[in-house]
Amino acid sequence: MNICIFVTFLFFSGVLSKKYVIGSRPLSMPVKVNSGLLFGLYGIILMNYSFPVGPHVIADMRHLTVVVVGVYMGWLPALLCGVVIGIGRIALYGWSSAALIACVAMLVVGVLCAYLSTFPWSRLTKMNVMNAACMLVIFITLSLNLENMETVMRYYPTQLVISVIACLFLYLITEHIDSSNMLFAQLEKRASTDHLTQLNNLRQFEWSLHHEWAGAQLHGQELSLLVIDIDHFKLVNDTYGHAAGDEVLRGLGQILLEQARPPAIVSRNGGEEFTVLLPGCSSVLAAATAERIRKAVQAHIFKLPSLQKKLRITVSIGVATHPHDTGIAESGSTLVEQADKALYHAKNSGRNKVCAASQSLHSAPLPAEK
Ligand code: GH3
Ligand code: MG
Ligand code: MG
Repeated sequence: MNICIFVTFLFFSGVLSKKYVIGSRPLSMPVKVNSGLLFGLYGIILMNYSFPVGPHVIADMRHLTVVVVGVYMGWLPALLCGVVIGIGRIALYGWSSAALIACVAMLVVGVLCAYLSTFPWSRLTKMNVMNAACMLVIFITLSLNLENMETVMRYYPTQLVISVIACLFLYLITEHIDSSNMLFAQLEKRASTDHLTQLNNLRQFEWSLHHEWAGAQLHGQELSLLVIDIDHFKLVNDTYGHAAGDEVLRGLGQILLEQARPPAIVSRNGGEEFTVLLPGCSSVLAAATAERIRKAVQAHIFKLPSLQKKLRITVSIGVATHPHDTGIAESGSTLVEQADKALYHAKNSGRNKVCAASQSLHSAPLPAEK
């Protein structure tokens, strides 16, 4: 029963950590404090479901909540967990010499597990060593609370065996929860991120567009889109090789992130085509942002360390704004169509240009590639 309850709590904690994406390390202070308090609460509940190991001796696995939180979350949660259970022991079951000993025992368990959690051991080793330390504390507690050693030795081995088996069982469960949460986080990131530039990928762009379009409709706000395409990028690949082309794509991604700060949403929609979605941005401001990006790209010197070469590129940018260029359109795809048309116009009228869906804004001669 005790272990089943704890496994249920572990599953619940796994769901919580997945929801709030706390699988990544190092953990923030609020996460550490909250997990220490939560596992302390688990320990108190386990204490409420103690099981008999002899006619007048009951036991529970409250110490394993400190062990688990110490191994997976670190020393502070372990310490907090021990303190919460220690205080809970007296608060819930009243003041007596036995209660005081049990309370002090949990504080010692907290301190020991906090200390042991700092060692650079594997998680399985830490679990077993912490469990062994806790069982030593429990042995001393039993010796102080029971009348003689014979009684202690009659009941303690049962508790020890249960604790060792439970510890291994809990290790398997927590490892499973931890690794499935990590895989989930990885999968979520991979599904939404472009592997080359680490920007949003097309799938994420489409989701963002859908989301921002709905927000713009709801609040009557403007929404602008820049579609950015590298000029004569095939030439870069043909001249310097595909790896150099990839390096340029990564560099361009960085420039876009620097020039278009949040709430702008920067994505690589495929090949050498990028987009910047600008929520709440007017057509004039969007055109100015596009022009700033165009100039920043033109001025940037891309270094290719492997080839010991430097090169420059230019981009053409199509700009469209909702509702300025989309009217009463029902979906964000109209915004993309308008921005694509503007990009097409920029390409056909000389490249290295920003063109709005309604007008061409700027043009400049192509810089020579070096
Ligand atoms: P334009 O000015 O008309 O846009 O000319 P362009 O050469 O940039 O356009 P085109 O569509 O002819 O060529 C796009 C090139 O982009 C061809 C393709 O090899 C290259 N490309 C697409 N994806 C990648 C990639 O992931 N890495 C590299 N290195 N090149 C890519
Ligand atoms: Mg191109
Ligand atoms: Mg293209």
